[in-house]
This record gives sequence, C-alpha cells and structure tokens, in this order.
Amino acid sequence: MKSIHRRLHFLILCAALVATPSMAADDPVSAVTAGEPVDADHVHCESCDGWNQAQAPFNIFGNTWYVGTAGLSSILITSPGGHVLLDGALPQSAAQIQANIVALGFRIEDVKLILNSHEHWDHAGGIAALQRASGAEVAASPAAARVLIAGTVGSDDPQFDAASPVTIPKVPEVTEVADLGTVKVGDIVVKAYATPGHTPGSTTWSWTSCETDDCMQVVYADSLNPVSLGDFRFSGGNGHPDMSEQFAGSIARVAALPCDIVLSVHPGMTDTFKKLSARTEGKNTFVNPSACSAYASAAQVKLRARLEEEARPRTDE
Ligand SMILES: [Zn+2]
Repeated sequence: MKSIHRRLHFLILCAALVATPSMAADDPVSAVTAGEPVDADHVHCESCDGWNQAQAPFNIFGNTWYVGTAGLSSILITSPGGHVLLDGALPQSAAQIQANIVALGFRIEDVKLILNSHEHWDHAGGIAALQRASGAEVAASPAAARVLIAGTVGSDDPQFDAASPVTIPKVPEVTEVADLGTVKVGDIVVKAYATPGHTPGSTTWSWTSCETDDCMQVVYADSLNPVSLGDFRFSGGNGHPDMSEQFAGSIARVAALPCDIVLSVHPGMTDTFKKLSARTEGKNTFVNPSACSAYASAAQVKLRARLEEEARPRTDE
C-alpha cells in the first residue's frame, strides 16, 4: 500500500455526538435539523431517514457489489484474499451495510480495507462502526483522514459551520493515500484520484472488475456538487482562497478517466437504481463508457451556475 504515513491516535471513542440545529446540506438535497435529539449513533437531518431506507444489496459487475442504503452508496469489492468497502454512509447506516454484506454471503471479517469518498457525515459516519465490526484498515486522502480522526470538518470545508459543527464517530487510525496512490487487498487494486471541490479531501476511486475475460474499469466518482454553508464562496473571499479552478479541474479529471461503469456517492446522481431495474439477461445497463463524462458535464453546469451566482452583485446591502 502506497500510503504517505500512518497516524496513530489512540482515542477512546466518546459517546458524545452532537447533531445540531443548522446542519449543512450535503449533495443534492437540503438537510436541516431543528432541535432533534442527540445520540451516539445517529445524525439527524431532514433527508437522513429517506437516505437510510433499506436497500437490498445487488451485484454491479464481477466482484463489485452495492451494499449501501436507498440514498447513500456503499460499495463492496470482493476477492478470495479479502474485500474492500467504499464508504459507510450515516452512523445509523452501519448495521444495514454490514447486514447487506452478510446477505450476499460474505463475511464482515473479510473486509480488510475501508475507503472514504469524502469526509462528510453522510458518507463517513458509518465507517467507525464498520471498522470495529471488521477489524479493517481505514484509508482516505490526507485531508479526509484528518477529518475522520478528528470527527468533524475543518474551516476549509465549504460546509464548515463554527456555530454548530456536525460530529461523527471518530476513526482512531486512518492511512493516508496520496493522489494517484494505489491500495491493494488480495488481487484488488484501487487507485485514488484527488477530486477536491465538494470537500478538500474529495477522492474518486477506480478499479478493474472482470467477468471471466470481460473486464471493466469501475469508477466510484465523488460528489462534484458546489454545496456550501454560511458565507463560503467557491470563487474566494470571506477568508477563503479561490477554489473555482481547482474544482473545475476535478470535474475535468472525472470526465477524462478511463471509465466503463460509473458509481456515485448518492446512487441517484448516476441513476443507479434506474440502471438496476433496466438490466436484463445479457444487458448490463451499468456498462456505459460515456457515463463518467456525462456525470462530469452535469457537475460543470452546476459549478458554472454557482460561480455566476457568486459573481452577481449583492442587492441586499
Ligand atoms: Zn458531502
């Protein structure tokens, strides 16, 4: 495994999780809490119950499986030498993800590595529990690793909210994976592509899955949505650097990736369930070599609209 270095934090996971009134929106849907009860294994948000609806696990292609919930992806890549799991959804999704893995006939103990797309509560919240259940190593980009260890995002995150920070169960030990680094479990090789923008640590992961001699490049594309809280501007200002070029570069990078199958952190972003229901014997509708560029094009439209909005003169002053 090509990791830069490993941080060891022997933290006792405390049960004091705080889910707070002005919780941020993630990805396409606005999520706001208002005085919800606080407990250790849940993040409360407007969309959370819908996202966490049960979803039966299913095969995508070859050794790639969907084991997430109805609104939050978790992807399992299997091999005789151990499995890789991408993302843990919400804290309250962990048990469901574990049950989905078992329902497919796999053992949670054979999950040897857990990777994270980006360091938000709706994709990283379940990782701590899944790590404890499996004993797996956890790996992420350096920026995401810092957040998983700290249990909350920093002020460089577009959804940072100093007044009411969202916290998630901390992961005591996280291996950092550099841009273009690879991680290996058994014969699985997963490559990291840094795609910062939605968060500083956003990472798109890619691997090859085969059915006999038919091999596909699978891309787990991270969110490319310019969603923020407070007075954050992707074009800079208010104490933040201009991130617009970096964000546009991430979108272009996803568009250019070798990509036969695209999966996304929220399944709806790439029509995961539509593709599933349209699948027939002999036609795997997940295979679409233009799907990554289509996903990136949609993101480019959103980013452009967001930057235009930021450039408009403020009329409320
Ligand atoms: Zn997010």
